[in-house]
Amino acid sequence: MRTFTTPMMKQYMEIKEHYPDCLLFFRLGDFYELFLDDAKIGARVLDITLTKRPRGKDGDIPMAGVPHHAVDAYIARLVKAGHNVALCEQLSEPDGKGIVERGVVRVITPGTVMSEKELPQKEHNYTLALSLGKDTLGVAACDLSTGTCYATERPYKHLRDVLDTEIHRFNPSECILSPDDYNKKELLKILRTESTLNISAYSDAHTQKKDAQTFLKDHFSVRSLTSFGLTDKPYATLAVASLISYLQYTQHRNTSHITTIKEYTPDEFVILDPATSLNLELFKTIADGSDYGTLIGTLDHTHTAMGGRLLREWITHPLRDKKKILTRQNNIETLITSRTLRTDIQKHLKDIYDVERILGRLSVGLGNARDLISLSSSLTRAHEIAMTLQKSDLAPFGKTFPKDITYVTTYIDTYIVSDPSYDLKEGGLIQEGVSKELDELRALITEADTWQDTFQKQEREKTSITSLKIKSNNVFGFYIEVSNAHKDNVPEHYVRKQTMANAERYITDELKQHEAHVLAAEEKIHALEYTLFLDIVSHILTYTRAIQNAALWIATIDCYTSLAYVAHEYNYTKPEIIEKGTLEITQGRHVTVERLIDEQFVPNDVTLDHTQQQLLVITGPNMAGKSVFLRQVALITLLAHIGSYVPAASATIPLTDRIFVRSGARDAISRGLSTFMLEMVETAHILNHATPESLIIMDEIGRGTSTYDGISIAWAIAEYIVTHKDTGSKTLFATHYHELQELEETYPKSIKNYHVAVEEHKGKLIFLHTLKKGSAPASYGIAVADLAGVPQNVTEAAEKHLKKLESHKPPKAGVPARTSKNTKKEKLLEKLRDLDTDQMTPLEALKILSDIQKEIK
Ligand code: ADP
Ligand code: MG
Repeated sequence: MRTFTTPMMKQYMEIKEHYPDCLLFFRLGDFYELFLDDAKIGARVLDITLTKRPRGKDGDIPMAGVPHHAVDAYIARLVKAGHNVALCEQLSEPDGKGIVERGVVRVITPGTVMSEKELPQKEHNYTLALSLGKDTLGVAACDLSTGTCYATERPYKHLRDVLDTEIHRFNPSECILSPDDYNKKELLKILRTESTLNISAYSDAHTQKKDAQTFLKDHFSVRSLTSFGLTDKPYATLAVASLISYLQYTQHRNTSHITTIKEYTPDEFVILDPATSLNLELFKTIADGSDYGTLIGTLDHTHTAMGGRLLREWITHPLRDKKKILTRQNNIETLITSRTLRTDIQKHLKDIYDVERILGRLSVGLGNARDLISLSSSLTRAHEIAMTLQKSDLAPFGKTFPKDITYVTTYIDTYIVSDPSYDLKEGGLIQEGVSKELDELRALITEADTWQDTFQKQEREKTSITSLKIKSNNVFGFYIEVSNAHKDNVPEHYVRKQTMANAERYITDELKQHEAHVLAAEEKIHALEYTLFLDIVSHILTYTRAIQNAALWIATIDCYTSLAYVAHEYNYTKPEIIEKGTLEITQGRHVTVERLIDEQFVPNDVTLDHTQQQLLVITGPNMAGKSVFLRQVALITLLAHIGSYVPAASATIPLTDRIFVRSGARDAISRGLSTFMLEMVETAHILNHATPESLIIMDEIGRGTSTYDGISIAWAIAEYIVTHKDTGSKTLFATHYHELQELEETYPKSIKNYHVAVEEHKGKLIFLHTLKKGSAPASYGIAVADLAGVPQNVTEAAEKHLKKLESHKPPKAGVPARTSKNTKKEKLLEKLRDLDTDQMTPLEALKILSDIQKEIK
């Protein structure tokens, strides 16, 4: 390591030593400077000039700087580029003698960005902490910007399954591990496939010294952790303790707004695995990752950031408790029926700021007086909503608005001026009547103003210069200004201070005295206002829980209002939720497709039960509408569990434990799996986890391989679902393999054939998008090609080929030979059933596949 002789560079190196993994932003006056290697990285990533600091014996020191007022944006860019930043401030005022004291005040990492501009408004920004046991995974996730914190412990057989689900649940931007876990190759390999995740080892001084439990008890000031559900959960406890400790380390202070840990058990919610939410396009479209055309894009009419974040959480965590679902339904119903109530609420919501994040900033010492005013005005608005609700059917919900809030708003409004200055150290923050000392100092300034007026009048009289003015500015202080026309009349004792184009500026002893007087008073005022501000903030922070409850209350009413708006605007209906039984949708529509297409959307009915039709085999040509229909059933089921209304004429939805949606046309090269392998891994996952209470959507499974394999595998999967006692799930099975329609004959009690109808009109296809009972008459592939504009000679040639092929085809080709079915198929099934696809390499899988293929042939 280089050594330096200048005191400043010595100080720099001492500090830098403690932050080897961070770029150190070193405060020098109005700039933050990066030195040495940090400077080179900063200059490259930020596109700023790399200069040198020539320092005699120390030689050239690479250096790059950014102005202090723009530092947030620069830091955000570095963090996005994968660097952590340590912010080093001047901790003492320069006194001209020694070197100023400096120290790091915070570390900024992807999970600890606090600047409002740099955070996505309606999304959380989670940091994840994991603690890995032999067959248990401790998981903790916390959004520092809002204080939201979760912890749980998950037993696992396949680590990837659990990790995928948890990572998907929180979509974290950062992950910390203990140094031990950081050395576990398997864990790291799985985490690394989530390419955007910033992973680091954090050695947790606190939890090593005390132990996780004591650390947490101290943080939350509680005697026991029972209320957090962490008893007998050592891995969850460890994860959440090191997470909070890590966040405190980055902020260099307590994080008092992390007031609770939400313990969650995955069973409380309908489980949507990552593939399902991807295929349903809940938050991102598969095509371009945008939110236009997604479920959230359609549903989200929330007005506050908090509401937006909560709605996302409702979507990812659909309820399985009928009572809770009905409560949401009823509240939404009230808001649908009363349009005036809805618009009243919306009007208020529009003026509400991000209370949660304001509180977060205040807690870590980043908030300013304007934040307090925004907090107060937002909470006042929320209180007004609560008052409005009193006269409605939402009165019980209205009553849950926290009582302490009016105290908080009154307090802020009494102490802070309504339009405070942005800078905390320049005064202009505190109301009159708050502090006697402050009022007295301010009176001195007022007196000084009067003195100044008198002095001006006096000097004008004495000099007979009527345009003479007493003025002041930040650079020159107080002065007497005389225009050039009168400068010869200026008395001797005026001392020239500055010459302007058409005036001269002077100072006198008397004015100098006045200046000193004013400056001293102002300095005292600024210091005093700052101290008072800090006191006010810490008092407000004692109401953190109440403010957080209010924030959740606001978010909840925002979600209700948004869902009511959608239900009303888009003509949704209230689904009937039943504990068990038949799923029945009449005139169902697809949430987003019906909004995107120009034509009229064609609604469809569906019934799924355990006695007649548990599994529907759905055929129909390409573009008929199979995929849309499948997804619309899944989406309606999902919406019903959120408590939302659904796009249908009527719907009866039984409580569902999991929704699986799989599609046979997707790749995941980043995971090193081919399309087909991925399909099979996902299929294995479904067959291992589905229950009679699950809904399975399989869209063209078996597509990624040759026809005969594809048919065989699809056949076997369908058969497994309807025959296996643990599965028995309601299933929609779309396929272009017409051979699968024969399953209906074998399993008349559970499998039914449907097709999406098309008509041929003068040799052209017309898509009716209507689901009809029975088998599809033909597959129309060539007709679709024709529609798509494939040149006519190609489609004609294809027609001829088809005829030739069909004349050679043995009857029922592709369908596993019925005669040998029992023995052969059983064996095949057994083989498939026993496959541990999570532990297989693609090569092994291919080998098994080819064996199966040989067997069938
Ligand atoms: P398939 O899966 O059968 O190939 P898709 O479900 O992808 O067909 O549907 C193809 C297109 O048909 C959709 O993009 C949509 O524009 C249209 N479509 C599908 N279902 C309907 C419907 N019920 N009403 C109107 N248009 C529909
Ligand atoms: Mg399709």
